[in-house]
Amino acid sequence: MTIRAVTSFIMHVPVTGSQIADSTHAITHWGVVGARAELQDGTVGFGFTGTHAHLPGDRLIAAAIDQCYAPLLEGAAFGHPRAHYRALFHNPPLQWVGRAGVLQLALCAVDVALWDAYAKRLDQPLWAVIGGPARPSVPAYNTDIGWLSFPQDQLVDNVKRAMDDGFTAVKIKVGAEHLGTDLARCEALRAAVGDSITVATDANGKWDLPTAQRFARETEPLALFWIEEPLWYDDVESHHELAATSSLPIALGEQIYNPESLTQFIRRGALHFVQPDVTRIGGVTGFLDAAACAQGAGLPVAAHAGDMSQVHLHMACALPHHTMLEYIPWIAHCFQEPATVLDGRFIRPEAPGASTTPTTEAWETYRVT
Ligand SMILES: [Mg+2]
Repeated sequence: MTIRAVTSFIMHVPVTGSQIADSTHAITHWGVVGARAELQDGTVGFGFTGTHAHLPGDRLIAAAIDQCYAPLLEGAAFGHPRAHYRALFHNPPLQWVGRAGVLQLALCAVDVALWDAYAKRLDQPLWAVIGGPARPSVPAYNTDIGWLSFPQDQLVDNVKRAMDDGFTAVKIKVGAEHLGTDLARCEALRAAVGDSITVATDANGKWDLPTAQRFARETEPLALFWIEEPLWYDDVESHHELAATSSLPIALGEQIYNPESLTQFIRRGALHFVQPDVTRIGGVTGFLDAAACAQGAGLPVAAHAGDMSQVHLHMACALPHHTMLEYIPWIAHCFQEPATVLDGRFIRPEAPGASTTPTTEAWETYRVT
């Protein structure tokens, strides 16, 4: 069985509403930049990374798939995705320019496509292939209600509506221009919805250490669940210092490009919730390695949803130490088996593969070149 063809694709899918923002970005579309891997027997696997739909950047990722990785795969025997990943990652000229950034995002898409094809050939959902038995459902937390661009009243109303829909956990963005704004929003939300709902927060790397320490100190009575990316993404020592001086748990991992870098945070006691993302950390292969490191350290995994949880739902169902999973519904309608939440819980997917196969309609509507 050989790999017949590997080709790139780009889809730009509108976000809910016209525009959303966190502390560092405002976007109107989500970029689904991926690889389509076709095998000799006709099996087709899809994988993708997630972007802010910046077309010049997306074209670089697509070019890396078509020009760097496809020639190494086409005509080769189709083997275990982990073996392909190792060969592609350690290819000397690509390793020289890769390991992070554009090339790594491209490799993540390729890796997921190969896992999707691998699972389809076994006629099993990905969670079974990576070692379920799996839970029938996973608790979801809703991020789409809590963007920084929502005024405070709308934020509170959104959370109440999410609770009515069955969510028992939400995440709200922080990192406004003034810390007082963040504190007021957190206090107003807790006052309005009471203690029964889990509230996580996310600063998207915006703060310095003193600001993060002050946020943690002042929100202590609110019993927040975690602060995500309080500080610059790669700063292990400052996260270690924050963890040592505050009681607010730290979550991070979405901006980390390999399991080894994430392990630096784990070894320094610089985080409490481990958030690898298949779209950045090395596809399914890198995610499983990162999750194993977390398990060895006794830490829960809470995948970041750069894939809007299409693939991560399989991870969360299969891994016993995966806690709640992020819900952002922007691209679910684009896939033959959309990630689905009922009464605040993601439902386990059952179709063979990684839930990454686009619908014909999405393929025709959202593709850009
Ligand atoms: Mg985040």
